[in-house]
Amino acid sequence: MGVIVQKFGGTSVADIDRIRNVARRVAGTYTRGDEVVVIVSAMSGVTDGLIGLAHKVNENPDKRELDALLATGEQTTASLLAMTLKSMNFPAQSLMGFQVEVRTDHCFGNARIQDIRVDRVRRLLQERTIVVVAGFQGCDDQGNITTLGRGGSDTSAVAIAAALKADACEIYTDVTGVFTADPNLVPKARKIDRICFEEMLEMASIGAKVLQIRSVEFAMKYNVPVHVRSSFSDEEGTMVVQEDNGMERVAVSAVTMNKNDARITLRKVPDTPGIAARIFTPVAEAGICVDMIIQNTRASGKTDLTFTVPKADYRTALAIGKKVAGEIGAEDVFGDDTIAKVSVTGVGMRSHPGVAARMFACLAREGINIMMISTSEIRISCLIEQKYAELAVQALHTEFGLDAQP
Ligand code: ADP
Ligand code: ASP
Ligand code: MG
Repeated sequence: MGVIVQKFGGTSVADIDRIRNVARRVAGTYTRGDEVVVIVSAMSGVTDGLIGLAHKVNENPDKRELDALLATGEQTTASLLAMTLKSMNFPAQSLMGFQVEVRTDHCFGNARIQDIRVDRVRRLLQERTIVVVAGFQGCDDQGNITTLGRGGSDTSAVAIAAALKADACEIYTDVTGVFTADPNLVPKARKIDRICFEEMLEMASIGAKVLQIRSVEFAMKYNVPVHVRSSFSDEEGTMVVQEDNGMERVAVSAVTMNKNDARITLRKVPDTPGIAARIFTPVAEAGICVDMIIQNTRASGKTDLTFTVPKADYRTALAIGKKVAGEIGAEDVFGDDTIAKVSVTGVGMRSHPGVAARMFACLAREGINIMMISTSEIRISCLIEQKYAELAVQALHTEFGLDAQP
């Protein structure tokens, strides 16, 4: 007997039948004697629908009000699931983020959890009540509702599991685990049985949306083993755990891609001290996260500077680029939001030389041009034209021997 945290994503609670399916699974765990805390997402499509409504009112909706609106998605699912469990004669109670006291900073739309007081949850568990928590939401120290960024229910689940020192944290989704590539993109992708936090963190940061990146940060910080599995089958999923010696150390264990970035280039920028700071300070002040940066020096004493930003910030970043270019005397500024980033990850990369060369050669064979490259100790990412993204992922998956055997 222990405390089990189970999180169900949007597709798992997409309609009343699926909510019933979730209720049966939760009831099964409860009946075996465990204390169960369930974290739910909004029903699939609901968050997007609410964002669409807000944009009908205002192209740039007020961030505080948008969070109050978006939180209703998870509130709906939490109460529907608690009702369903009660109608099956199981004691259940829904709690919103503020009731669990998921305390966050003030950053509406992308708030960070600072502290969680799980006293109320603990009391309910002691009374043998199933606690259903609305994921994705918290509240700041002034009582305002905040949300944790897209996919944030994963983070709610891991953070609550850490606060409760839960015995298991299970993330139920629409695939059977973490794969060597998005199984909806690469039919030959294989399920990974065990993956370490570090590798999962890299994968999440470059587009494997199966876990929100902050949930992996939490899991790593508090050493919460996470079991990613399907809500539609009983198949064992993927264990995301601390790295250990028993782990396979293939050079590349997964290939990911995302189309969420845009790139901005300032041409013929003066090659003098302080110029990069002049460009990136206003970008940072606008709250925009820059990802890749390259700078080439020309013989003329001028440099070209290219960087990438999230697509959602493209227009703002381009406007800043144009303003700064005028001030510092850059020749030209242009942008491109039809790009994709493909990446290969693997802890084995630390000890296997030649992974980058193999990746570049593979892309070259497919006639794919590389615009930018960035690396970490266990990841190599290439920026390419968006139209080649799927082809690149499939080719790299085959190149690094990840295809499932027929
Ligand atoms: P949920 O609504 O349950 O949170 P998400 O849609 O956020 O589910 O995440 C699950 C999706 O993540 C899958 O349907 C899959 O398309 C995508 N995905 C991307 N990369 C991977 C990967 N490497 N392994 C598994 N799923 C992946
Ligand atoms: N409902 C939110 C979203 O769609 C949070 C989540 O599903 O995890 O991003
Ligand atoms: Mg998700």
